[in-house]
Amino acid sequence: MAHKPLFALIDCNNFFVSCERLFRPDLQERPVVVLSSNDGCAVSRSNEAKALGIPMGAPAFKYRQLFAQHRVTTFSANFELYGDISRRIVSLLTTVTPRIEVYSVDESFLDLSELPINDYAAWGRAVRAIILKHIGVPVSIGIATSKTLAKLASEIAKRDENHQGAYSFIHIPPAERDAQLESVPVNDIWGVGRRLAPKLRADGIGSALGMARMRPQRAQQLIGIHGRQMVAELNGVCCHPLARDHDSAKSIMRGRTFGEDTAKQHVLESAIATLGAQAAFALRRQGLLARRIGFFANTNRHKPGYRSWSYEETLLQPTADSGDIITRLVKKLDEVFIPSQQYHRLGVYLYDLVGAEVLQTDLLGYIDGHAHDKAQARMQALDAINSKHGKGKLYYAAADLSSKWQPKHHIRSPRYVSNWDELPVARIA
Ligand SMILES: [Mg+2]
Repeated sequence: MAHKPLFALIDCNNFFVSCERLFRPDLQERPVVVLSSNDGCAVSRSNEAKALGIPMGAPAFKYRQLFAQHRVTTFSANFELYGDISRRIVSLLTTVTPRIEVYSVDESFLDLSELPINDYAAWGRAVRAIILKHIGVPVSIGIATSKTLAKLASEIAKRDENHQGAYSFIHIPPAERDAQLESVPVNDIWGVGRRLAPKLRADGIGSALGMARMRPQRAQQLIGIHGRQMVAELNGVCCHPLARDHDSAKSIMRGRTFGEDTAKQHVLESAIATLGAQAAFALRRQGLLARRIGFFANTNRHKPGYRSWSYEETLLQPTADSGDIITRLVKKLDEVFIPSQQYHRLGVYLYDLVGAEVLQTDLLGYIDGHAHDKAQARMQALDAINSKHGKGKLYYAAADLSSKWQPKHHIRSPRYVSNWDELPVARIA
């Protein structure tokens, strides 16, 4: 049975400022402004800074005096940090539901249609509390049957403290719904903005309620098919379904039960290198990059004293580079390896997968494009050689440390190259 559309918008409040405050708790309830790194314009403001009348985009040089007078703390934007916090929030949200659309660095839509929730506002407050507890960033959550309404609901949640950070349009009496829509100026509707608002105002439409009551034909005449869709969305009819980053795979895992249990670190290292290379190859074949990588290991669950471990790491820069992935995981293994254990099984996993094309549309500017291009070219050469000369011709030195973990019949191909600087150039016919 198809479920009726139902969305939650999770919107981080004053996101960049909130990220800076994570490391400067003394700045709570103080005016704080984050400035763009190149031109020194305000790109994020705390509520206290907004109350001082500092507008979005305010150039710092014009506001120096006001900053000094009110002891406003300013930061140069640290996009690497914001990107990392953003990914942490997204990965926390994926534990709520994997059906998520990361709309921007500080906004994500969740598809709630298949979740068993009775009280949506209470659910929203609970999610808000979890994010605040685990990450420390305050968010506003809006819930509705269309994205446009969900966005409006999150604005209402942000504006009115009585809602405690979450507002839902589900099961709301029509009179309350209309009063809420009436209170939202037309330029605050998602997709309207400064450009279209004057057109609507000239037609007598000043609020979200006015627009919801517009004849769809009129909206289309004024602002095209988007106008018609906006009217439908404001009436709770979904025109914009959840857009997924990718549907090909949520994660890639390569695991193996060892030929014999082992207490030797180099055997585990070898397993990580081989399985890591296999997983990274699968990742590249699908045109994906991983934002999180990890491995698990366990002893034999049928023997006494069963134990299991799992470790993961969030990457600043998503990768499909076998060498990068293996090096990081082997290093992690070194930190956590316990010599007294008899390891029975190990697996490498890659998740938080994104299409490789995200690097071209990197709005945050935290990606090192040059390093990425080099890594991708190296991997293309590796895959080309392996596909031309047979699987496993080229592999990482660590994979060769031991074959004890592999099934007994496996015969390792000769090792041609163990150093990336000596990698031969492959010509693809
Ligand atoms: Mg926001």
